[in-house]
Amino acid sequence: MKRLSAILLALALLLTGCAGDGAYTDTTLYAMDTAMNLRLYDDADGAAAAWLQQYLTQLDDTLSVTKKDSAVWALNNTGRTEDALVCELLQQALLLTERTGGALDVTVYPAVQLWGFTGQVYQVPAPEQTQAVLERIGSSHVHLSDGEATLDRDCQVDFGALAKGYAADQCRAYLEEKGVCGVLSLGGNVQTVGEKPPFHQSWTVGIQNPDDPQTYLATLQVKGSKAIVTSGDYQRYFESDGVRYCHIFDPATAEPVQSDLRSVTVIADSGLLADGLSTALFVMGLDGAATFWQGSDDFEAVLVADDGTIYVTQGLQDAVSDCTFTVIPR
Ligand code: AMP
Ligand code: MG
Repeated sequence: MKRLSAILLALALLLTGCAGDGAYTDTTLYAMDTAMNLRLYDDADGAAAAWLQQYLTQLDDTLSVTKKDSAVWALNNTGRTEDALVCELLQQALLLTERTGGALDVTVYPAVQLWGFTGQVYQVPAPEQTQAVLERIGSSHVHLSDGEATLDRDCQVDFGALAKGYAADQCRAYLEEKGVCGVLSLGGNVQTVGEKPPFHQSWTVGIQNPDDPQTYLATLQVKGSKAIVTSGDYQRYFESDGVRYCHIFDPATAEPVQSDLRSVTVIADSGLLADGLSTALFVMGLDGAATFWQGSDDFEAVLVADDGTIYVTQGLQDAVSDCTFTVIPR
């Protein structure tokens, strides 16, 4: 009997990845330019929370565009790096640039800087300035070979559109290996890990209201480990002469996107993919995003349009509640 119980327990652990009575601990930290919350179940001694905190801080030290001893700062200011993580992320970024037809492009950073999003000294630059910066944007300025990345002169990169998704993937892998379940909120990125204790429930994730981000427009039921990443025009922006300029740029114009979307939430197995695509779909706008989804099979999305309509891709229609929505068919 004892043996049978042991086998059943082992099986339950295998199926759920973690056990527990539903008790959790929350840890908050500030890293990667955003407030983060780590909600972990079955981490009574705090070991997993401590690991995640240290990992996220260390990743920030490597990928920050503003910290003067980061690997990205070195790349941007010397034009080359052998940092393995930076090379890996550049490679992933280039693949996504190709896949999204240039909507996601980490070389957009000079434009982000010009408009004052680094350091929050915002300005609407003169058209000539934007035009000049445009020449410094484009993945053809990035060269990767034999563990080395180089950038053409005056070209700079920023992993702000991808880094938290990558971080979530690494945190998820660690927690799954340790058999710890939880839900991580890394700014606009939510990462669920395992099934919610104690009864293997799904996780409930809110879609923020762009007009009032303290409230939610809709709720999403998510089963198991998923990345749920939102890009929106309300997350970081400034206004000038009644126009809102948000932190998501169109690499084709070097200007903040004037999208017909207020937010894009992407749900995928990979955090890096969900993060890259949420930014890219925002750039594409409603029609472009819907068409892009119809040609893909590795994510679902919730799109909030500027007229308030909520669009939900077909695969998610049973997972979204607390709102009326329009389904984007296959
Ligand atoms: P996210 O919040 O994931 O949508 O990423 C937005 C951040 O990525 C911005 O704060 C910029 O630093 C950077 N960014 C803005 N537009 C783009 C773009 N089209 N491609 C890549 N990175 C971008
Ligand atoms: Mg992103």
